[in-house]
Amino acid sequence: MSGFDTVAVVDWSAGKRKPAAPSRDAIWIGVVQSGQEQAPVYCRSRIEAEAWLAAFIDKEAKAGRRTLVGFDFPFGYPKGFAAHVTGSNDPLAFWDWLAARITDDEAGENNRFDVASEINRLFDGPGPFWGKPNDTAWPDVPYRKAGIDYATCAERRACDLVANASSSCFQLFFNPTVGSQALMGLPMLARLRQRAGVAVWPFQTWTDAQTVFVEVWPGLIETAVKEVGQDEIRDSVQVRLLARALAGLPPARLEGMMSDTGPEAGEEAWILGAGHGDELIEAARGPQVLTPPPLRNDCFALPAGVDWTPVDDALALLRDRMTPVVGTETVPLMQATGRVLAADVAARRSNPPHPNSAVDGYGFAGAAIGSGAQVLSLVDGRAAAGVPVDAFVPEGHAIRVLTGADLPKGVDTVVLDEDVRTGDGRVAFNGPLKRGANTRKAGEDVVSGEIALHEGRVLTPADLALAAAVGHGTLEVRKRLRVAVLSTGDEIVEPGADASVGQIFDANRPMLLSLCAGFGFDVVDMGRAADDRATVRASLETAAQQANVILTSGGASAGDEDHISALLRDSGAMQEWRIALKPGRPLALGVWQGVPVFGLPGNPVAALVCTLIFARPAMAALSGAGWFEPQGFTVPAAFEKRKKPGRREYLRARIRDGRAEVFKSEGSGRISGLSWAEGLVELQDGAVHVRPGDPVRYVPFGSFS
Ligand code: AMP
Ligand code: MG
Repeated sequence: MSGFDTVAVVDWSAGKRKPAAPSRDAIWIGVVQSGQEQAPVYCRSRIEAEAWLAAFIDKEAKAGRRTLVGFDFPFGYPKGFAAHVTGSNDPLAFWDWLAARITDDEAGENNRFDVASEINRLFDGPGPFWGKPNDTAWPDVPYRKAGIDYATCAERRACDLVANASSSCFQLFFNPTVGSQALMGLPMLARLRQRAGVAVWPFQTWTDAQTVFVEVWPGLIETAVKEVGQDEIRDSVQVRLLARALAGLPPARLEGMMSDTGPEAGEEAWILGAGHGDELIEAARGPQVLTPPPLRNDCFALPAGVDWTPVDDALALLRDRMTPVVGTETVPLMQATGRVLAADVAARRSNPPHPNSAVDGYGFAGAAIGSGAQVLSLVDGRAAAGVPVDAFVPEGHAIRVLTGADLPKGVDTVVLDEDVRTGDGRVAFNGPLKRGANTRKAGEDVVSGEIALHEGRVLTPADLALAAAVGHGTLEVRKRLRVAVLSTGDEIVEPGADASVGQIFDANRPMLLSLCAGFGFDVVDMGRAADDRATVRASLETAAQQANVILTSGGASAGDEDHISALLRDSGAMQEWRIALKPGRPLALGVWQGVPVFGLPGNPVAALVCTLIFARPAMAALSGAGWFEPQGFTVPAAFEKRKKPGRREYLRARIRDGRAEVFKSEGSGRISGLSWAEGLVELQDGAVHVRPGDPVRYVPFGSFS
């Protein structure tokens, strides 16, 4: 047997019972089952945690999953200690010795200082245990460490030194209270290890055991823990990341760490991974998505021998060849709108996390409510959102509850304020009432562990609400796609500059830059390049260094001054795309130093249409968001138009009175028509005769953003 199917990591606590709402310094359990990270489990008391663990161990064993359970307190004490107390140097004998003495209850009241006193009395002079809430109680436990000589046994174990842990298993009070955690944890382990198939590492043979208990220490992965946002409770982060690390290590590496113990381990125990912190930190960070490789040079190759490529074939080819080219980063949730999810987002907790009330009213057990008049005695207290009551509501009783409040114990149904009369410590209303009425079930929206949002999703404001509700403060997203925009042509001058005869203003660049910014991409303004091979080459070179995609306009034909196509052809990675499209020709697609180049036609109308129809979906795929299909609508035409078969046509259009009207001229230099339009009408490749009232496909510009 090798490897574990399930890993759980327990952050133990020596403290009193914790509030119902998940809080710090409580017991937290991180679980990764069959590679799936589960939302950390929060336990209010040790007794609750022990019951959860017992059930968990049995459940995993029954399901045939081999399980590793890590606990963050020492399994053993420095050499010589156990023998001094029990007469045997078997650490498990000390566990039983302790289990026979330690008492604990649901409230967390326990006798650990009495037991520590008993142990200290077995030593000459002050015993090893020290630290307590005040310096008067428990005279056999010193308040401070000063004066303890640690002659019979050392203060720290060999593994504590290797792991660089500053805490001591003898310190009972003041953080870190490792000593108290061990006294309150080992009795639990002594009981749990009696379950079938459990072995304790490194004391017992563990290689074939169904369930293996190991000592762990989250301090080893502190660097990775610190990288997680502040909004998740630290203990939760620790157990989640340590479980992820142990589950994520290759089985042989985990086995290597489990075999790498000092000679003292049989008596003192060992911290799993001591001396391997860097490796654990890497594993705790989870799989890092590396920057993907650049596109292949031949990615725009068209089928040989084809003269005019239909639009759909060209799109199918792009869809097939465009893969994500950007790496990933973690961003705060608040800044994630419009970003592309780099990994599935699993719910860390259910929404709602607990059953709660959907209204202001009175809660009670629904089973006992019949039809007709009901009068229930009110229990003291009030459950409000964020302020749960710890009361039990017996049958025949009710309690005040407000919207969003966790349902108190005994309550599963709520009657609305508007439907009751109250007075005299009682509440009256008319039945029947459906059991569960006016309440929300835990997880009725999303269940913990479920995938709430999928990789590749472009995050909307509502997605942020969902991610927040299921426990995320940061999200793993793709780095923004960087798009460089370059205009070419000797005749092109900067907008607003002086233009002499024969010159025209650069209209494409402002349009394309703002279009791409609107798609959610980072834009790099490459300015203008004259029709000169060296100048255009230098611009492409700079653009390739700064961006993930290059959009150029002009110079894409096969003429003398068409340097974009010439350069791309020289580089061996150019394809002239003769696409059966109007307006559109020519379009040059190529790869320049690993960066895809969309050589758009110079005509502004054609430049815009080609960007929307080809570059837009291709850039979506490059950005990690997957292929993109703009949403179109079938509407009646307000125009008449005849076209020959052989190519697809896009007309500048807009909707008025529910009908698509088109711009009066189809001239591809008519920029005013672009500005007039609010979308495109798409006419299919075949022969078409559209008459007023005929259905046509209209795609609003908004569908492209
Ligand atoms: P070309 O593709 O370079 O042959 O250019 C086709 C037409 O588009 C020519 O009339 C150019 O002057 C015009 N054109 C090219 N680039 C731009 C631009 N950036 N802004 C406006 N018109 C342009
Ligand atoms: Mg030109």
